[in-house]
Amino acid sequence: CLQLHLHLPFSKISSLPPRTVMPAWVIDKYGSNEVLRFTKNASFPIINYPNEVIVKVFAAGLSPIDVAMRGGYGAATLSMKRDPLNIKQSGSEFPLVLGRDVSGVIMECGLDVKHFREGDEVWAAIPPWKQGSLAEFVLLSANEVSHKPKCLSHIEAAAIPYVATTAWSALVNTGGLRKDNCANKRILILGGSGGVGTFAVQMVKAWGAHVTVTCSQNAEQFLRGLGADHVVDYTAGPVEEPLSALEKFDLILDNVGGDTESWALKLLKPWSGAKYVTLVTPFMQNTDRLGVADGMMQSAATVASKALKHLMKGVHYRWGFFAPSGCALDEIRDMVDAKQIRPVVEETFSFSQVPQAFEKVEKGHARGKTVVQIS
Ligand code: NDP
Repeated sequence: CLQLHLHLPFSKISSLPPRTVMPAWVIDKYGSNEVLRFTKNASFPIINYPNEVIVKVFAAGLSPIDVAMRGGYGAATLSMKRDPLNIKQSGSEFPLVLGRDVSGVIMECGLDVKHFREGDEVWAAIPPWKQGSLAEFVLLSANEVSHKPKCLSHIEAAAIPYVATTAWSALVNTGGLRKDNCANKRILILGGSGGVGTFAVQMVKAWGAHVTVTCSQNAEQFLRGLGADHVVDYTAGPVEEPLSALEKFDLILDNVGGDTESWALKLLKPWSGAKYVTLVTPFMQNTDRLGVADGMMQSAATVASKALKHLMKGVHYRWGFFAPSGCALDEIRDMVDAKQIRPVVEETFSFSQVPQAFEKVEKGHARGKTVVQIS
């Protein structure tokens, strides 16, 4: 009854009988794989704002961030985003549903939703502060959702949104790349064989760039098949040595982190607007460790001092972040439909095998994406 009251003012469609519960994998506390719990009684999503949609999930993608969030990564930052006024008790995020990619069908639309209708096939990357896709239904803002590529199955489509919107945010919004300014650019992708890398290689290659990647020796043919022009094996010795012998780069996307920034910026063309964009940043760890205000101050001071130091040497230093965007997914859909980008599904698990899917992602050495078939 409560659900019906909350539902009706914002929702266009009330033809289905109201549901209050759904099947989902949830966690009730942070920890290792044993905190994952299957329930048939997870709360059914409710449209609270007129621009929201409920999506029936057909397939969900898993990423390293799901494993990290299962262990409490980003808990402080994400709690602030979920509850900015800090009204709720600590732990109010539980039961928490993980899973950042969804491919599915629109089940219900808020009153202001113009671009989607019930039954539309859609895909989306779900912000980490929202309930995820390891459930029968998920609630999203319409601006986070896009019509899925017609040529892909739901399993294939679920391999793309989170890594694609991350790569898009890093390469386009932060790195300044566009489809019409990549020809003749030399791009280095550190860590080419995982989810983000396999997408980024295809995207910049489709835009005409010359692409160099680093990866393990056994991923070389795989990455050449995705379009990499030059592949450097990081397991053969210090990877900076073979990379230093190459012509310098216009942009580096770092998916690896660690000590890479101690040598990678020297590989950029100085005084030409060249950029290093890293996706491995201490932002969430700082806020988890120091609290939101001090953690953000620490992050701002770190990135500003590094950016200034490298600017004096003629190159740009930037942090890249995932950014949910239905508009970016619209452009990516067109690239997929034009066969410029293909999904890279490494392994598929059934809904009952979610703990095994987490184990797979946790082991590392990804070659593309792990996907869970929900229905
Ligand atoms: P994956 O786990 O899918 O891929 C990581 C890949 O890197 C694996 O294929 C691994 O294969 C390879 N690898 C490991 N070490 C090295 C190395 N030294 N040099 C080259 N390749 C290496 O991760 P994702 O692609 O999903 O994410 C990449 C990084 O980006 C992660 O650190 C993730 O946390 C971060 N990220 C950050 C976001 C943000 O908002 N800032 C958003 C999304 C991701 P192998 O070990 O076999 O070589």
